[in-house]
Amino acid sequence: MQNIHSHTWDTALHFQPETIKEADISRGYPLDLTVKFETFMQDMAPFDQVVVFGLKARRTGYWVPDEYVADFVAKAPEKLIGFACVDPTQPEHFEELTHAIDHLKMLGVKMGPMYAGFDPRDPMCDRVYTYCQDNGLPILFHTGTTFNHNAPLGYSRPWLFDDLAIKYPGLQMILAHIGHPFSEECLAVIRKHPHVYADVSALYYRPWQFYNTMIVAQEYKVTHKLLFGTDFPFANGQESVDGLRNVNHIIAESGLPRVSEQVIDDILERDSLTLLGITQ
Ligand SMILES: [Zn+2]
Repeated sequence: MQNIHSHTWDTALHFQPETIKEADISRGYPLDLTVKFETFMQDMAPFDQVVVFGLKARRTGYWVPDEYVADFVAKAPEKLIGFACVDPTQPEHFEELTHAIDHLKMLGVKMGPMYAGFDPRDPMCDRVYTYCQDNGLPILFHTGTTFNHNAPLGYSRPWLFDDLAIKYPGLQMILAHIGHPFSEECLAVIRKHPHVYADVSALYYRPWQFYNTMIVAQEYKVTHKLLFGTDFPFANGQESVDGLRNVNHIIAESGLPRVSEQVIDDILERDSLTLLGITQ
């Protein structure tokens, strides 16, 4: 099993104090977002390979250096795959990116347009997108809502990435969290573009929304574009697997349509890394 979405950071070093406080909203109760290597590896026990990244977004108070992620990955290189993070509003972002790819051996990129406060279609990002397209580097974008009050929702709407997909037909993209709560918009985008995927991370704990999203995905026949991820430390590994397996529990024997067992198995067994062209 593969996990395409997880985080590492040291909150004391890499988060602004207000950001740590606001994170309590993410699950509705205080959450310890500290990531210790041993705890992380325990949580990742169900998975053979795990993509891990931090976040860079000056606007909302996150700054996890790529070196930190690279050191973390180096402790379990057979299992962990590091992605570089890019905040294109910052002057050194392109040099940091090429350094992370060339020297830290990162195999993809994570960007958070709403967190860093940029429209993903902004021409200032073109250099990053062209570089990623030319070098076969997938970009995982945060899409959907957040707990940070200063992160504009307008920059996380999935439809923005339709324009990007048209402009960069060779750029592999993953839209995180199926764009929740704009999931229908996200499914419409991934349906159009063979090179655009979505991940199911951090959705299972809103069971009604998750069930409906999966049913819509099934009706649009786009479940083959859904990649498995957890969003650790916001959600745990085995709980995320069980959450997907139990997606139909909420409807009980009501007669409502069910997410097929085959669809669930396929998502859990998907070789996302090969689909994205990532080889360790
Ligand atoms: Zn995440």
